[in-house]
Amino acid sequence: MYLAYNARMSTTRLDRFIRQHSDYSISDTRLLIAQKRIKVDGQPAQSIQQTITEFTEVTLDDRILQRRQPVYLAFHKPAGIVSATKDDKHRTVLDCIDHPQRDELHIVGRLDFNSTGLVLLTNDGSWSRRISLPDSGISKVYEVTVAEPLDHGYISAFREGIYFAYEDITTRPAELEIIDKTHARLTLHEGKYHQVKRMFGAFQNEVLALHRVSVGPVHLSTLESENYRNLTETELSLMT
Ligand code: URA
Repeated sequence: MYLAYNARMSTTRLDRFIRQHSDYSISDTRLLIAQKRIKVDGQPAQSIQQTITEFTEVTLDDRILQRRQPVYLAFHKPAGIVSATKDDKHRTVLDCIDHPQRDELHIVGRLDFNSTGLVLLTNDGSWSRRISLPDSGISKVYEVTVAEPLDHGYISAFREGIYFAYEDITTRPAELEIIDKTHARLTLHEGKYHQVKRMFGAFQNEVLALHRVSVGPVHLSTLESENYRNLTETELSLMT
């Protein structure tokens, strides 16, 4: 269980939870506890004020009222897959995930249809909101192939920020490392819509291929295309 990383997840009190998930009222809860009919994470409930998170297992008379394990996955997205849960025309990231809790998952930080690389998925809404905040300090690294030759002007322009007229914002300082004429590694510290393509678009330079290699401490590394894995406890602890 990764509850230590979910300090800001949504919580409720046991008596309110019982009212919402059974025919019993708030005031019945005290008696149910005394009769040891409620179990919280396998142990008899202790108090009406006991904290219940979205990932606490609660049973009443051994009937499960809630069983949700938090799930945190890294997925290697191939090209030609939509970053969505459902799509009428194309396969989606969720279509590629064969996991018992698949239907609970959502994507944290989309990649475009033809972009490839690391996509994170979870059923923990407060975690995904937290790591998506602009001030989360979580950087994303992309390998980019462009149509026109790169030069040092890109490095300073990206460091200073590119103006996006549509939103009337200037992108945060980003680091560009030129690998060769048309290949670079770009590190962003935010995630605006089509950000990489629009940053190179400011130079009328088309992005031909875009591959995300890492998000914060999570690296794609040897994870094969269309495969997924659980995030490790170390990765999770580094992301809070
Ligand atoms: N920026 C883009 O333009 N596309 C992506 O898929 C990700 C970041």
